[in-house]
Amino acid sequence: MGLLTNRFQDNVFFTSSDAIINWSRKSSLWPQTFGIACCAIEMISAGCARYDLDRFGVVFRPSPRQSDVMIVAGTVTRKMAPIVRRLYDQMAEPRYVIAMGTCAISGGVYNTYAVVQGVDHIIPVDIHVAGCPPRPEALLHGFVQLQEQITGTKVLRRQDPADAVLGLS
Ligand code: SF4
Repeated sequence: MGLLTNRFQDNVFFTSSDAIINWSRKSSLWPQTFGIACCAIEMISAGCARYDLDRFGVVFRPSPRQSDVMIVAGTVTRKMAPIVRRLYDQMAEPRYVIAMGTCAISGGVYNTYAVVQGVDHIIPVDIHVAGCPPRPEALLHGFVQLQEQITGTKVLRRQDPADAVLGLS
């Protein structure tokens, strides 16, 4: 008992694996460094000293292999779409997508044959940040929303014996 008391004095605490994994994921969201139109200027501004995305653990990375987040900041042309898809495919799971701006969300004013009418036609989108362009604060809000979404994610599942009987696991 004396030994156990000493351990508690060493700041032992209990939590779930999900809470630890989700906390580390949401605290180190690393977006790819690329932008495809005018919205990218606001994305770059969000990363600079005035808005300082780094304080949320958001650090831009030059390679999709090192990134967890893709910010689609701008108009996705049909010519660009396969490249956006390839960059997404090169990211490891878990990966997240933020569609930044009206063009990325729906094609915006460019209702033409040359523009993809929403990036969710080619990759799944987790967060939509509206605006033309959205301000850096809006992108920041998008990241906070993404962090909240990650917090509620179930990472590890305890195997239910009933599933094994039914052949579901
Ligand atoms: Fe440019 Fe507006 Fe389209 Fe953003 S939403 S890429 S600012 S036209």
